[in-house]
Amino acid sequence: MKKKREWAAYVRRVTPYVPGEQPNETDMIKLNTNENPYPPSPSVFEVHRNMDVTDFSLYPELSAGSLTRSLANYHGISDREVFVGVGSDDVLSLAFLTFFNSEKPILFPDITYSFYPVWADVYRISYECMPLRDDFTIEADDYQRENGGIVIANPNAPTSIGMPALEIEKVIRANPGVVVIIDEAYVDFGGETVLPLIKQYDNLLVVRTYSKSRSLAGMRIGYAMGSEGLIQALNDVKESINSYTMNTASIRIGIASLGDEDYFQSTLQKVMDTRKRTKSALEQMGFDVKDSQTNFLFASHRTVAAEEIFEQLKRRHIYVRYFAKERIKDYLRITVGTEVQMDRFLQAVREIIGTF
Ligand code: PMP
Repeated sequence: MKKKREWAAYVRRVTPYVPGEQPNETDMIKLNTNENPYPPSPSVFEVHRNMDVTDFSLYPELSAGSLTRSLANYHGISDREVFVGVGSDDVLSLAFLTFFNSEKPILFPDITYSFYPVWADVYRISYECMPLRDDFTIEADDYQRENGGIVIANPNAPTSIGMPALEIEKVIRANPGVVVIIDEAYVDFGGETVLPLIKQYDNLLVVRTYSKSRSLAGMRIGYAMGSEGLIQALNDVKESINSYTMNTASIRIGIASLGDEDYFQSTLQKVMDTRKRTKSALEQMGFDVKDSQTNFLFASHRTVAAEEIFEQLKRRHIYVRYFAKERIKDYLRITVGTEVQMDRFLQAVREIIGTF
């Protein structure tokens, strides 16, 4: 007789995070996962071309030492204040596991990066969501209540709206007894960083990624910066799970990208210029578009349903992101692509809206 799956009672039950689709159509325009439309820096191409594959027979450097040091130099801090991981998702997940061990709930906004509640669930961390104001901005005073830790994406996703550094500082100052994580995945596109505050507040962890502004989503590089105590705690937990998370190729490519500031700045500028032009074109078509400090736009049409536009764009192989969630179900999140991609996107939207 077939035995019942007795082990099923002991499985950790979770509802996983659902990332944006990764379709593979030759003619597609992919504006759904906030990737950078421009290639990585030419110095990344060069390092990749010259990589000696025989090196891959050895384990990578412990703690991605050379990349950690390069990041510390780049940001003008000590290498004991930097922690590197496999994309910022890895860093954030590890930070949840390391720092959020209070009986009290952690706090984050109701509309934010939808991975936060997933990590909280998988690690059995209780949480409370603080509603954004009606204009989708974050109210710093909401984060004055008792809590077991705080995580805020700044600029926030998917709203694209940045919070002034002074407001974030209010939150950090009011919560000296818990760790405050500021997820700055999009900060390079015009947001205000709180990085200088790590010298002043030993409970502040700033998290960054190479996936957006450095055009390196596929290499999976993310990092955190904070006081030596926080970084040591992250390293201890990481080394209790997996000593070698960062692979040799990513470490070298991560260093190469930091060396080419001109390319970095010019790519950022191109994305920001295209963002501005796309925003006004959408506004002319009757969209309400939030002021974005990221590489995406959050837009809602006055009359045509977001889901309808999303589906019709998909039929044309143009992918944007739609969240069927209360409060934001009338919005589309549109990654800023190249000028040519955005022209095709805008033309398609014009046609779709014209049929209503
Ligand atoms: N934080 C936010 C707010 C994001 O939108 C993303 C991208 N999905 C990440 C973190 C994770 O990015 P990555 O793991 O590629 O560094």
